Amino acid sequence: MPDSAPSTNVITEPSKWLPILFVIVNIVLLWVIYVMFHCKPMLDDTAVGGGASLESIHSRAWVEFITFNILTALIIICFVRACLTNPGNIPAKETGDLTWEYRQGSAQSLANSMGSMLGLGLQEAKKSGERRHCKWCAKYKPDRAHHCRTCRTCILKMDHHCPWIANCVGFGNHKYFFLLLLYTTLATNLIIWSMLESVSTSVDTSVPFSRMFMLIFGETLASFLALVVTVFFVFHIWLMFKGMTTIEFCEKSMKRNWDNSVYNRGFYGNICAVLGDYPLLWLLPLSPPSGDGMHFAQTENTKLMKDMEPGRGRQRIKMKTKAPKREKRGIFSGMAGTGEYAGSEVSVPGSALSSTISLTSQKDAAERLAYLC
Ligand SMILES: [Zn+2]
Ligand SMILES: [Zn+2]
Repeated sequence: MPDSAPSTNVITEPSKWLPILFVIVNIVLLWVIYVMFHCKPMLDDTAVGGGASLESIHSRAWVEFITFNILTALIIICFVRACLTNPGNIPAKETGDLTWEYRQGSAQSLANSMGSMLGLGLQEAKKSGERRHCKWCAKYKPDRAHHCRTCRTCILKMDHHCPWIANCVGFGNHKYFFLLLLYTTLATNLIIWSMLESVSTSVDTSVPFSRMFMLIFGETLASFLALVVTVFFVFHIWLMFKGMTTIEFCEKSMKRNWDNSVYNRGFYGNICAVLGDYPLLWLLPLSPPSGDGMHFAQTENTKLMKDMEPGRGRQRIKMKTKAPKREKRGIFSGMAGTGEYAGSEVSVPGSALSSTISLTSQKDAAERLAYLC
């Protein structure tokens, strides 16, 4: 998998670089305000410490200064890596891998599709039993891959398109995006709670207006960002524990068993799927999850969960196809747990995420899915 993001002309498209500029301006502004108007006065003995000794004010200032700078450095690293790391694309035929090349005609017959799906270990399919494919990229889609109209390509394990990083969040950069939310949540909350005393002191005592203004402005900006990012981060923690992506959540929210995922690997496995295989490196912006982003093994938990789906019991879905019996069961034992977002194409303009679910059908499968919906 290439390490750089797909080549898009970011410079000539303001809608792509303006959000990034906004993020950079916010980082710089908050750093300047916190360091120059909160930490520095405490280190220069010009801050009013509310009766605390000079020594305790100094040590508190150093702790906050060092902690804040470590968090800022981590935010910058995660931001750069989330922006520049390729979220993952379907292998092109130029690489010699013809597995995902979409072939129309006889080769697209249902039996062939099922056979190739079984060979690749895929679980998601159209209701007709055919392999999912992207009409824009002319490629078969691996499980959890979706087409992003902003990036104009299919993204592996696509979570959503994020305008703030001008990139999709997918298999390759999900960890960096997740940690970006974590560090931003910590940094903005650190600013809010530790700078509160400086803000009230600047209001109550005679300090230059510019200092009072910057402290109040920084406190307000950090509070707003903390509120938004913290809520977003909590949502992504929940998604991680459920083994779901944002797109899968949006698609499943229309179904009865919306908080179950066929990709749920259990508590530890779900964390590893986002933060990597080594617990000691989970909170550092390196060592992303292993795998190729195209194959997601079914675990015992997954199989058990699928058997427990409402109305499913031990019964298999029967399909009237000419495909061999063994293949039919294999395909639909995988399909039934996918939530059926086969063929969905997703575009996320701005912060609004919209998805269109295209469901082509075979009668029996349609009845089953209508029940699940
Ligand atoms: Zn595509
Ligand atoms: Zn995208």
